[in-house]
Amino acid sequence: MDHHLVIGILNGDDIGHEIVPAAVEVVKAAAEKTGLKIDWRPMPIGRSALDTHGTTLPEGTLETLSTFDGFILGPIGHQAYPEGPGAINPHPIMRKHFNLFANVRPTKSFPGLGALRDDIDLVIVRENNEGFQPDRNVVAGSGEFRPTEEVTISVRVITRTGSSRVARAAFEIAQQRRKRLTLVHKNTVFKLGCGMFVEECYRVAKEFPDVTVDEVIVDTMAMRLVRDPQSFDTVVTTNMFGDILTDEAAGLVGGLGMAPGLCIGEGALAMAQATHGSAPDIAGRGIANPFAMIESARMMIEWLGHNRGRQEAVDAAALMQDAIATALADPSTRTRDIRGTGGTADMTRGIVAAINGGTAVAA
Ligand code: ATP
Repeated sequence: MDHHLVIGILNGDDIGHEIVPAAVEVVKAAAEKTGLKIDWRPMPIGRSALDTHGTTLPEGTLETLSTFDGFILGPIGHQAYPEGPGAINPHPIMRKHFNLFANVRPTKSFPGLGALRDDIDLVIVRENNEGFQPDRNVVAGSGEFRPTEEVTISVRVITRTGSSRVARAAFEIAQQRRKRLTLVHKNTVFKLGCGMFVEECYRVAKEFPDVTVDEVIVDTMAMRLVRDPQSFDTVVTTNMFGDILTDEAAGLVGGLGMAPGLCIGEGALAMAQATHGSAPDIAGRGIANPFAMIESARMMIEWLGHNRGRQEAVDAAALMQDAIATALADPSTRTRDIRGTGGTADMTRGIVAAINGGTAVAA
């Protein structure tokens, strides 16, 4: 059956214009090898869309994306957008619109990159659409308000539905891995909010009797991630705790350039989005680490392969995985933030060369 996967390319801002094309180049090389057919659809987003369309999220974007299998979203530098009605942060809107409630963020150490240990291989599943994020937990207005000059109130929303669906996504991932799931929360203090999250996790656990479950209080988790990160396999937690712990986890394995992510939900659409921001401080210099973006795209291709029953996508993802490891092993085909001597283009070229079964030719 000659069926193409349709995938959107949304560069985002700043280093997004460097690392998203790198990710596309790598996926194209792998797809070529395995016969995976992809129909790529570039779309405007972010600061460049503001200049061309008067808004950072042009009209019709969500409708068009909803017809795709997935999309690569580059980092969004919304803090630097000029004031104005067209300058909105598009990615929380996308996560909500497509019900992408599970943010899957793996942390893996590769030798020689400056990781704290060489045996870290864990994945944190962060709830994406409610919790303590003021832009996600209300339909109108903000989840924060200031009734008097003296008082600010920030609202945290936890629901049974939100908790159980992210728990199910995490159990499914744990089942494919080492069958161990750690629930991270603070029900000692947030007796109702975290209490509900934990209750729902245990309710879902009954569907996965082969997965061993344990619990760690979030502050202890912050310490244990540093002390013994190798002891964790799959972790599930609420939005804000996940936000913080995934950056911490990235720090264990070489920094934010090593922090990929995939946003998924019950729907058919997947969004590849690295954990890091748009890094304006290094944009345009050709030195951004493309790993997180490339790996996010790889995870999307793998997920689509399983979800759509497309073996050539699963094979392409496997090919990419080996090629990424090959490039990372050579300092000339990795970036300086991870003890390399190369730039974004060298790393991309190294991965593509490994996919094609050769070695990178220096630029
Ligand atoms: P956000 O709040 O949008 O996540 P942030 O304020 O956390 O963004 P980032 O843009 O993620 O900030 O950058 C934080 C630091 O990490 C910067 O010094 C940046 O240069 C570095 N950094 C982020 N991503 C990369 C990358 N892919 N390669 C190299 N360095 C990076």
